Amino acid sequence: MKITGLELFHISIPFLHPYKLSKVYGTLTDAHAVVIKVHTDAGIVGLGEADPKNPFTEETPASVMAVMREGIAPYLLGRDPLQVSEIESHLDQAVKGNLMSRGAVNMALFDILGKVHQLPVHVFLGGLRHDQLPLLGSIGSGTPAEDADAIETLIQQGFRTVMIKMGALSVREEIRRAVAAVERYGDRLTLIMDANQGWSFKEALQFIEGIHGSEPAVLEQPVAIGDLAKLKSIRDRIPYLLSVDESLVTLEDAAEVIRSGAADAFSVKVSKNGGLSKSLTIARAAEVFGIKPARTLPAPGPDRPPAQPCGRPPWRWCNRSRRSP
Ligand SMILES: [Mg+2]
Repeated sequence: MKITGLELFHISIPFLHPYKLSKVYGTLTDAHAVVIKVHTDAGIVGLGEADPKNPFTEETPASVMAVMREGIAPYLLGRDPLQVSEIESHLDQAVKGNLMSRGAVNMALFDILGKVHQLPVHVFLGGLRHDQLPLLGSIGSGTPAEDADAIETLIQQGFRTVMIKMGALSVREEIRRAVAAVERYGDRLTLIMDANQGWSFKEALQFIEGIHGSEPAVLEQPVAIGDLAKLKSIRDRIPYLLSVDESLVTLEDAAEVIRSGAADAFSVKVSKNGGLSKSLTIARAAEVFGIKPARTLPAPGPDRPPAQPCGRPPWRWCNRSRRSP
């Protein structure tokens, strides 16, 4: 079988409501993606997707389109699409960076593999691990009353994990929002507070001090990506999980975060992390080191008791199992 062509589509899907994120990202009105179709001489077409959002990612839809046309398509044309590892390995060397572009190709090749053998793709990734997973619903920045309305809508839709975006308002306002949400929903929802790099280290400390006693399940990416020592310092002060998202893009990032002990949980995303193969490698490394999947935690209940803060600042975790990274 040979690859005969590549089609690219830049799609833009408008949100029902503007999605207000941290001050680093502003307010989004559309979700952008680049969908690729990899055509073969057998008539089978593989689909892949890149979800670039600069500055969340280094890539943009336009850069994905350009890299696909100029860097990836000339190599892919005429290749056997079933040689997924060989193609992945070559593109890792020939196309530096641009992880989302390479990831979309990886997805499309697995799609072809599954269609050729008429098997679900998980068969080629080691088999099925879960037959169902909790889905995460996310709300942008609002007042506590607006947050409650948005959360109620998600609950009605069946969500039990809710990510609340932080980092757009003053820390004082974010504390009010977080405490209100945890006090109202913390016993029945898995709540993730995601600051999307929106705070300085000092602001992050103010936040965790301000919500003391109203603990979410997870705090995600409170500060900017580079300084893992600051993330580690935050992690050491909180009894709930510290998750990295923007700090976790490449396999090397995963190794560095594990080495530095900077996180309890990883936000693994198939597009951001460069496709199915690389995302699976990161997920397996996380599992080896006891790092949790931030987006698929179990709902609160007997298996996940609420975190127990200990005393006054500087706090120490109490009921969190600790391990050396
Ligand atoms: Mg995030």
